[in-house]
Amino acid sequence: MTPPAHARAVVIGGGVSGCSVAYHLARLGWSDVVLLERRRLTCGTTWHAAGLIGQLRPSRNLTRLAKYSAELYARLEDETGVATGLRLSGSISVALTEHRWEELRRQATLAHTFGVEAELVTPGEVKALYPHLEVGDVIGGVHLPGDGQGDPANIAMALAKGARMAGVTVLEGVTMTDVAHDGRRVTGVDWQANGETGRIATDVVINCGGMWGRDLAARSGVTLPLHACEHFYLLTEPIDGLGALPTLRVPDECAY
Ligand SMILES: Cc1cc2nc3c(=O)[nH]c(=O)nc-3n(C[C@H](O)[C@H](O)[C@H](O)COP(=O)(O)OP(=O)(O)OC[C@H]3O[C@@H](n4cnc5c(N)ncnc54)[C@H](O)[C@@H]3O)c2cc1C
Repeated sequence: MTPPAHARAVVIGGGVSGCSVAYHLARLGWSDVVLLERRRLTCGTTWHAAGLIGQLRPSRNLTRLAKYSAELYARLEDETGVATGLRLSGSISVALTEHRWEELRRQATLAHTFGVEAELVTPGEVKALYPHLEVGDVIGGVHLPGDGQGDPANIAMALAKGARMAGVTVLEGVTMTDVAHDGRRVTGVDWQANGETGRIATDVVINCGGMWGRDLAARSGVTLPLHACEHFYLLTEPIDGLGALPTLRVPDECAY
């Protein structure tokens, strides 16, 4: 499908952020919206994510956003027919040092002020919640029973489907090449697909390019302070009883 000549807004990037922006614009009544993804939906970092949904964030608004996300993912399947894989199996963070233990206790207090359920747990209680763990060097932990995990690619697909159902045009294989502007005002988005080029006239462009977003913004003279970090993960053979456990975080070992 060729991109339209005009849209009220153009979203660049078909990861979970772009699909979410398109979905929420549509829910606000902005159905004349186009989402451009240069390859396939979710092909960026969304595809790699572990999908952990932690409710406790450094500020009240980020915590509200994380709580809202978990609520949204719970109802998206009914709305769109696409399963989001949401499981609320909780999370535990453990402290191996006194300084970390103080930080975790502060976090638990913060959680209560944000309305997030959190309880301090002893090493013995950590062992009961997570029998595979060696707790000899654990000082204590915090348990958040409402935390969970979802399937990031399916969540993005569900959001894209919800957006499409509300009238948004979602296009794959279309690259944004430039943002046209008249002084400081955006006037359109230039695109390229299968050797063809064109322009969508619009007043609003939303950069959801993830780790490519910095370079996309720089082309319009905008500084976006975002860069990628290296992240390692292990794939194991199945381990008995591991699947239904809470997510475990060991911040002293930079591991989860
Ligand atoms: C190993 C790993 C584990 C993670 N675990 C978690 C986790 O447990 N919980 C959590 O919340 N987060 C996690 N994350 C982070 C999470 O994956 C990202 O924050 C999220 O996926 C970013 O989504 P996005 O839509 O911003 O970017 P992306 O998914 O990268 O999407 C950007 C899209 O823009 C497209 N694009 C770029 N340039 C153009 C262009 N010119 N024209 C059109 N399209 C363009 C790209 O093709 C891409 O699809 C993890 C990340 C990794 C790598």
